[in-house]
Amino acid sequence: MDLKFINKDSKERKRVKVGGITIGNGDFVVFAGPCAIEGRDMLLETALYLKKNNVSVLRGGAFKPRTSPYSFQGLELEGVKYLKEASEITGMPVVTEVMDPRDVESIYPYIDMFQIGSRNMQNFSLLREVGKQDKPVLLKRGLAATFEDFLYAAEYIAVEGNDNIVLCERGIRTFESYTRNTMDISVIPLAKELSKLPIIIDPSHGTGIRSLILPMTLAGLAAGADGVMIEVHPCPDKALSDGTQSLDFEDFEKLINKLKEVEGCFKDMR
Ligand code: PEP
Ligand code: MN
Repeated sequence: MDLKFINKDSKERKRVKVGGITIGNGDFVVFAGPCAIEGRDMLLETALYLKKNNVSVLRGGAFKPRTSPYSFQGLELEGVKYLKEASEITGMPVVTEVMDPRDVESIYPYIDMFQIGSRNMQNFSLLREVGKQDKPVLLKRGLAATFEDFLYAAEYIAVEGNDNIVLCERGIRTFESYTRNTMDISVIPLAKELSKLPIIIDPSHGTGIRSLILPMTLAGLAAGADGVMIEVHPCPDKALSDGTQSLDFEDFEKLINKLKEVEGCFKDMR
């Protein structure tokens, strides 16, 4: 592969700062929050809960890339403003998806990290636009992207000057249809062999099945992932999007407790 800005030998491993949190320094960082910001109260309730439970970065979608144009599309800028408020109250840095290069400027003041969603991984004008910003980028793997496509997408961002990029494996489409996607755990060590960037996993989108989030988080941890992103909702059965792959507070707490038990075991893999 012809990588100039994100390749492993260009410098030592990249540490990406998101607010006061560092990704890629050997800690296993937990990103969590609702798939979609559905309103101010639900976001604040979730954020306050997550803050008490070791979450480092709050996620929440406001511009939602839904398969159907008739599904809930997100609260857009109003939602991003709630995210900022949640960040001010809890002290957690926040990440949200940007779908259109024209929204980068308006979202910028409210967030700590831009998320590029799976469906936009090869939206090259969007990649270049976030590459010109001085805020970090969470780049999710395209749902049909090869490993090379994935790294080249990161390179597009870095070419513009911004190499504060965290990769995110969120599953790819395969012939398997019982799970929503197939998580490709092998890209975690592979990304570290070829690039200097940290990589996290998203077992919510990676599987689509709530009960698989904990085991796949542990698989990612053992493979050397730098963190995990999990969808959490106060009442997943009533969620406006992705309820089946969201944890409620009780299950999330079980996951955090399990992580506390095992985290130290795989530190040398990161
Ligand atoms: C998300 O994280 O909100 C999301 C839409 O994920 P993906 O882009 O991986 O489908
Ligand atoms: Mn989702």
